[in-house]
Amino acid sequence: MATINANFLKLKAGYLFPEIARRVKAYSEANPDLAARIIRCGIGDVTEPLPAAVVDAMHAGVAAMAVRETFMGYGPEQGYEFLRQAIVEHQFAGLGIAADEVFISDGSKCDTGNILDIFGPGNVIAITDPVYPVYVDTNVMAGNTGEANARGAYAGLLYLPCNAANGFVADVPREHADLIYLCFPNNPTGAVATREQLAAWVAYARANDAIILFDAAYEAFIQDPAIPHSIFEIDGARECAIEFRSFSKNGGFTGVRCAYVVIPQTVTGHSGAGGRVPLHQLWSRRHSTKFNGASYPVQRAAAAVFSDAGKAQVAALIAHYMGNAKLLRETCAAVGLPVFGGVNAPYVWVGCPQGVDAWGMFDKMLAEAQVVITPGAGFGAGGEGYFRISAFNSRANVEEVCRRLKALVAHAHPY
Ligand SMILES: *Cc1c(COP(=O)(O)O)cnc(C)c1O
Repeated sequence: MATINANFLKLKAGYLFPEIARRVKAYSEANPDLAARIIRCGIGDVTEPLPAAVVDAMHAGVAAMAVRETFMGYGPEQGYEFLRQAIVEHQFAGLGIAADEVFISDGSKCDTGNILDIFGPGNVIAITDPVYPVYVDTNVMAGNTGEANARGAYAGLLYLPCNAANGFVADVPREHADLIYLCFPNNPTGAVATREQLAAWVAYARANDAIILFDAAYEAFIQDPAIPHSIFEIDGARECAIEFRSFSKNGGFTGVRCAYVVIPQTVTGHSGAGGRVPLHQLWSRRHSTKFNGASYPVQRAAAAVFSDAGKAQVAALIAHYMGNAKLLRETCAAVGLPVFGGVNAPYVWVGCPQGVDAWGMFDKMLAEAQVVITPGAGFGAGGEGYFRISAFNSRANVEEVCRRLKALVAHAHPY
């Protein structure tokens, strides 16, 4: 008899997005005449086509594969040098990151989950609340937690409350932690951390001999020049941080798949026997054993994001999405709802009307406006009372969502 990893049984019923999909499907089946009206602002997936420079580079990559002389088989597990070098030059200039500290992958979702392979049991894991559910669920699968309580909080995790009072940027805790997940610009709240706030986290990590797992999937959306794009802009981070980046949200690669992890040679963990081991060495072993590289055409396409044309096209995409975010933010504010985010991130985080909880707001928006949002409670107990609207959409859809939001709130009492 094959036993199973019983940690999986601790997971709460559904991952958030399957549950949203289930409710949307049920609504569509029950209301076939309204189904075509549904506008999805739920899942954080890009909507606009790939930048032309990316498409051209991918085509060229495929063409190379079609000819014996330029055909590529297995590539280097860590990623092609041309891409790692372009990343270092264009994303980490002046920050002391070397190309051999970059590991190319097929996504940050996998990277942020897989990274747990190199950490041992017994770490105190700090997770912001609300949070990207992947960090929590992968820790549950890895056996780093106990059971969930009625509010969905897992025993054994150190939850860092994020709320209106702290601007949805977690304060450094009094308690000790060994691993800390930070995501800025944040999904789901759209919050960004200032240099001082990140410096406080780096100081905390160094004082606690902890590792920061910094998810910068949305760094390209930062508009304010004072906000750091990388944790490595903070002195001392090279000794205590790993950064995750992805081409999904800037280059529109959610369906193409390419991302990377930056692990400085100087970040170490305890071996248990009293020694320290570079995390780079462990991740290199893990990556080359369990992964065989992102495809050559995809890596060529990713490198094109850093070409002059690619940069201009990505900037236009970001400007489009941030224009959407501005409209959504202004509309929510105009109808009297508390609004956060949407300034340096493609997510607008909105307080629910009085007396409506997060899933209640989800159901209400679906039933009365045929708009799919994401209930804040799906991101953790700390997200209760809020909902997330994604700015990833066409302008026409966003304008329509804004009209429906106004109508919905105008016709309802009391708010
Ligand atoms: C979208 C997103 C990513 C990127 O995931 P990919 O697997 O690279 O598509 C990473 N982190 C967060 C918080 C995200 O929202």
